[in-house]
Amino acid sequence: MGPSPSPAPISRKPDPLPAASGKDIVPRDAHCVFCKIIAGQIPSYKIYEDEQVFAFLDIGPIVRGHALVISKGHYPSLLETPAPVAAAIGARLPMLARAVQAATGTPACHVLVNNGAEASQSVRHLHFHILPRFANDGYKLNWDAGKIDASNAQELVSGIARALKELASTP
Ligand code: ZN
Repeated sequence: MGPSPSPAPISRKPDPLPAASGKDIVPRDAHCVFCKIIAGQIPSYKIYEDEQVFAFLDIGPIVRGHALVISKGHYPSLLETPAPVAAAIGARLPMLARAVQAATGTPACHVLVNNGAEASQSVRHLHFHILPRFANDGYKLNWDAGKIDASNAQELVSGIARALKELASTP
């Protein structure tokens, strides 16, 4: 048996950011608590910042080390976020998740984003949650898998394909 593989170092220099224009960063909402945190009007436990991305500890953690990764521009959810901004956040998430895991000594994590109140989004400014996890840490994420129904699945595939076609043709 050879040596166990070790993960790549966390201090590795981040990849270059995808190109985003200034207007992707500018949008702000004067009443948004996350915009105020980015502007420094509300203090936060900041863990990372660059031109487009800001990250800090959630002040209402559901597990120890619960962190939030947000866009500097104000976008209500991932669905309204310009692709270059989404790409910039996506490029940072692996590094940030690994750093949170390293600091908490956890072997696993969730990286998730809630879009809309019905999906438990409380602040309408795009944010990804990093939830570091231990086995038996007491946190319960309800993930009771059902069973896919073939005819229903085909209907969904067609409906989504139709929607994608319409979105692709929208300027
Ligand atoms: Zn905001």
